[in-house]
Amino acid sequence: RGGRPVTASPADTHCPYCALQCAMTLTPTPADGLPVSVEGRDFPTNRGGLCRKGWSSAELLTAPDRLVSPLLRGADGELHPASWDAALDLIADRIREIQDQSGRDAIGVFGGGGLTNEKAYQLGKFARIALRTSRIDYNGRFCMSSAAAAANRAFGIDRGLPFPLEDLDTAHTILMLGSNVGDTMPPFVSHLQGARARGGLIVVDPRRSTTARLTADGGGLHVQPVPGSDLALLLGLIHVVIAEALHDADYVTRRTSGFEALRRSVSMWWPERAEQVTGVPATDIRSLARRLAESASTYILTGRGVEQHADGTDTATAAINLALLLGLPGRPGSGYGTLTGQGNGQGGREHGQKSDQLPGYRRIDDPDARAHVAAVWGVDPSIIPGPGIPAVQLLQSSGRPGGIRALLVHGSNVVVSSPDVQSIRDALGRLDLLVVSDFFLSETARLADVVLPVLQWAEEEGTMTNLEGRVLRRRRALEPPAGARSELWIMAELARRLEAPGVWDLDPAVVFDELARASAGGLADYSGLSHALLDEGAAAHWPYPAGSTGTPRLFADRFAHADGSARLVAVRSRAPETPRGGELSLITGRLLEHYQSGTQTRRVAELEAAQPELVAQLHPATARARGLVEGGRVRLENARGAIEARVGVSGDIRPDTVFLPFHFPDASSANLLTSSRLDPISSMPEFKNAVVTATRVP
Ligand code: SF4
Repeated sequence: RGGRPVTASPADTHCPYCALQCAMTLTPTPADGLPVSVEGRDFPTNRGGLCRKGWSSAELLTAPDRLVSPLLRGADGELHPASWDAALDLIADRIREIQDQSGRDAIGVFGGGGLTNEKAYQLGKFARIALRTSRIDYNGRFCMSSAAAAANRAFGIDRGLPFPLEDLDTAHTILMLGSNVGDTMPPFVSHLQGARARGGLIVVDPRRSTTARLTADGGGLHVQPVPGSDLALLLGLIHVVIAEALHDADYVTRRTSGFEALRRSVSMWWPERAEQVTGVPATDIRSLARRLAESASTYILTGRGVEQHADGTDTATAAINLALLLGLPGRPGSGYGTLTGQGNGQGGREHGQKSDQLPGYRRIDDPDARAHVAAVWGVDPSIIPGPGIPAVQLLQSSGRPGGIRALLVHGSNVVVSSPDVQSIRDALGRLDLLVVSDFFLSETARLADVVLPVLQWAEEEGTMTNLEGRVLRRRRALEPPAGARSELWIMAELARRLEAPGVWDLDPAVVFDELARASAGGLADYSGLSHALLDEGAAAHWPYPAGSTGTPRLFADRFAHADGSARLVAVRSRAPETPRGGELSLITGRLLEHYQSGTQTRRVAELEAAQPELVAQLHPATARARGLVEGGRVRLENARGAIEARVGVSGDIRPDTVFLPFHFPDASSANLLTSSRLDPISSMPEFKNAVVTATRVP
């Protein structure tokens, strides 16, 4: 059960869940059987607000099935408690044996966007110089990779929001594409209220989501395109902007390159053609383009709905092209940004968990970056492996020639959250060794050969980086349960057993200092930051080079490419997978009550009671045509799998579409139906557009 409060004084920290990282205070006033009480804390992002998940988060600390001992799979096929020495010795021995037989790349490492910056950094270092494997990637590949690739291509840097969240308050117009903050991060909605009051909130979503419903009063607009057609919609908007000379010609000339190629690429995307693909009337596309161009201050924001596609990088690129044509990025009161989802989705992609990156958001194939990071690590650059392979390929390589034979998973529940999840379950079944570090026996941990119990949010010190690139302090309020250990300790112990070079500190503040040195001079430069500085309350937006006071707003004078210009990149739309003859488009997303694979929120009684099972949202006409009734059961099926769900009938969804939340495991996993087709640029899977049949379960 949960630990004891560390001190009698309240701990100011941040929520364990999403990238808004709402500020909260944990007070050691035991009540209702909980070791701490949770209160929202005034902070520029959440203004004292918390959502239902945040308010109930203290329950995670007393979950009865908290892991408090390493588990080893025995000859009987069951997991049994074991000592830390036995577990770590076994892991080290098996790693050595497998690498002797099959090479260093036979070991894979899979990280997570919920790990603190310190742990994400140390995991990348552990993979490269303790295991000396190139095979590391993380679950942010499923989350942010396409938006990150698009931002890097256009701006030369990727920070989710290149401006503080409060900047949105004064906006006249906010165009949100594929984001449902009303459910995923409700305190964010306070930043939409200004645009909403001015009649300028525009939401693009195939569903009338909670966020889309905010457009209903005051002149807002909800655009409901065919699933998977977002790129065509954006190309239609860009066509109108250029054809009607609505673009900011001076900005485009001074601050961008690539206009001519972009102009030619959209010349055929007249609104009537976009209408054929998107279902959005051409007149609406024209009026939306004019409205965006005429607004005094405009923000364009994208989310997973338009990014989690096999053309996700190009779709995010088109949104950036539109923003650049309108002269938004870097203009006070306007901008473009992507809304990071996971708690440390931003920091998690900066410190070396990605297959092709080193700390500081540096490329692993850059000789200067390798030399800099190797010097910080105290190793020769030649021992740092080259680029690895992205998440889906990494997992699916298991047991294949040249693939991984062992996998170490930290902070990720891949058998629920991966696309085409049966293929991932099969892949894990081919491993010789699966090691999972988690604080609950997640569905992935249940399959492991070794399970290592680790600390959770209120039991550890560290930092997180929120969706604005603001570095935040996570503070310890509780003693962890006896038996659980920090990942930093686990990595240090394994590094010692593997006789790895380098220093493996256990103190997160010291690891942060090393991270800061490793990041110095990189795009995500943390070198001016420390735990002590953050404890003083600095508003710490990176880049934060030594001697600076950080960078709340990027792009005011220049973009990060060497010539200071942003790139307009011509992209082409591929036809979305569309349903035929009675099939439906499947889209997936989140509920207010649950977070990601549900490993945590399904253990909170209040949240579980509110959303206990998988419900498929279907339009009344769709339900009627199939004999489906509210509360009945529906079978959804395609070539990859089949699941059953409770029926939820709602006019909020298009008749050709079904919506499933992806928080539920095993036979209720929406990802049994999603596709592992990948974006060729970012390796983002096609999560948000699959075709299924729906039939009544008698
Ligand atoms: Fe936590 Fe996100 Fe809810 Fe804020 S919006 S309380 S960070 S889950």
